[in-house]
Amino acid sequence: MAFDYDDNNIFAKILRGEIPNNTVAENDVALAFRDIAPKAPVHVLVIPKGKYVSFDDFSANASDAEIAGFSRLCAEVCAKEGVGLDAGNAGFRAITNAGPDGVQEVPHYHLHIMGGRMMGPMVL
Ligand code: C5P
Repeated sequence: MAFDYDDNNIFAKILRGEIPNNTVAENDVALAFRDIAPKAPVHVLVIPKGKYVSFDDFSANASDAEIAGFSRLCAEVCAKEGVGLDAGNAGFRAITNAGPDGVQEVPHYHLHIMGGRMMGPMVL
């Protein structure tokens, strides 16, 4: 298994309070904060508080409570940021990059929630 977690990654430092962040929402298992270089009017990163490198690491190894809490926080972000479909908003894009081929920069799992404009087709 190649999910070696680096405690010095920037999101680990954010979770330890060593680096400030612009928090949007938080619960017991996850934190949501604004991306420092937003690519859309809404650009929020949702991260688990546990030490997971990537989406597949989190999906394979997080507890059911962590996975549920993470998803609920994502829904809270969509509602708070005015992009959630249930309130008749225009929607959003949720993506995650994993590993070198996914061009993942920060090796702590994070979901990008982006919206507030038409995102256009997926560019590969
Ligand atoms: O998916 P990927 O790893 O490439 O994305 C990392 C994201 O983390 C970037 O969008 C970058 O702007 C963001 N970031 C941040 N705050 C930091 C460092 C990076 O929001 N201190």
